[in-house]
This record gives sequence, structure tokens and C-alpha cells, in this order.
Amino acid sequence: MYSIGVIHRFDAAHLVSAVARGLHGHTFTAVTRLKADRLRAPGFVVDFGALKVIARYIDATLDHRNLNEVLGEMSAGRDVATHLLGWCRSNLELPDGVTLAGVVVSEGGTGWEDVPLTSWRRRFEAAHHLPGLGDAHKCSRVHGHTYQVFAIPDESPDVGTAFADEMLIPLDNYLKEGFNYRYLNEWFPVPPTSENLAQHLFAWCEEHLPKVRLAAVRVSETPSTWAEYRRKDLS
Ligand SMILES: [Zn+2]
Ligand SMILES: [Zn+2]
Repeated sequence: MYSIGVIHRFDAAHLVSAVARGLHGHTFTAVTRLKADRLRAPGFVVDFGALKVIARYIDATLDHRNLNEVLGEMSAGRDVATHLLGWCRSNLELPDGVTLAGVVVSEGGTGWEDVPLTSWRRRFEAAHHLPGLGDAHKCSRVHGHTYQVFAIPDESPDVGTAFADEMLIPLDNYLKEGFNYRYLNEWFPVPPTSENLAQHLFAWCEEHLPKVRLAAVRVSETPSTWAEYRRKDLS
């Protein structure tokens, strides 16, 4: 199972009955998540560019606002999430097989709270481009990212400890040799989208590190986008 997430931030005030002091404010973080069983060319759940409408809606409607004026009394984070989920259901045109998995809104959060603290994290610096998108698409140009990779442990109760960090040294070496300071298109067998990188690294771990019990591998190109490949029985 593949999923992607986009993180949007907005600054707003609200008054909620649970907080006696009255009107206050937060930098809110909204995480919108979509999932699909299989990818569409060149290797997307959906193009992150197709989700920019969410940012435009948030900027126009929620950012630098008093949320009570927009949403009425129900303006807590979970209410904003319900509102955004409804907006996405009505306004996102999703291809067949892609589902909206949910929207989570936190007050003062980072948007990365769903990554377990026990996950293993590394960065690599690499170039890539994505073929077949047309010259007007910015990802068709050669460019690069500081990628983040998260190996997310299987926390099912029967697993016990999914891995110790030293068990992932071969993955660290694989990232250093094959990915860090590389142009990924020179050797990666399919278009190097985040989704394809996550699936590749998950499969690589299953093949080379059979004792490591991963739930998922997440790959992030930017601080506000990520893609994840998750074992089917855990999705
Ligand atoms: Zn609040
Ligand atoms: Zn890119």
C-alpha cells in the first residue's frame, strides 16, 4: 500500500469552550493523506502539484483569520480537520483507485507526529528528474533534494523489538553508496519518485535484512511532502 502526505501550515486565532482564557491562537498544521494500491505513471499516488489547491484554499480561507468567523463555534483542531476533509472530498479530483485517507490538524505541531519516535532516520542529498511529465512540469527538469528516509518499525504486539539500530547499518551503507551525492536517474530502475524510492527501499530491506521487521519506509523530498510504502497487512 502506498500513501502520500502533504503538510500545510496556517496561522489563526480561535475561541474554544475547552479553553477558559478565551481567544488565543496557534500555528496550525494540517496533514492531508491519500492512499492507493498501485501507482500511476511516472510513479505517483497523485502528483503533489495536483494538491496545491489545498494550499490555495487554506491560504484564502483559514490563514491569518479568526476561525470562529469562518467555522462558527466548532473551531478546534479536529473541527478544522473535519472541515478540510469535507472540502477535499468535494474539490479534489482523484483518479480511480486513489482514496483520501484523512486529514489531521494539530495546534502548534510539526505535522510529523505520526512517525514513531522509534523510527530510524537518515538523510541523503541527491539529484533526479521525472520523465514523461512534459516540459512545463518543474519535476521534468534535473533538480535535487535533501531527502529524508524513515524506516518505521512494525509495532504489532507479537513482534517485540522490530530492530536495533545496528541492524540497519547495511541500509545506511546502501544509502551512502547508491543515493547520497548521486544523480538517481543514472541507475535507479524506474522513475525516482518518492513513492518508487520508498517501495524500493522497503523491498531492499526485506531482501537483505530479513530479521528487521519494518511496517513501512517513508521518503520525503521536502519538509512538507512525503510518500510511504507500507506492508499490506498493516495498512
Ligand atoms: Zn487553541
Ligand atoms: Zn524532485
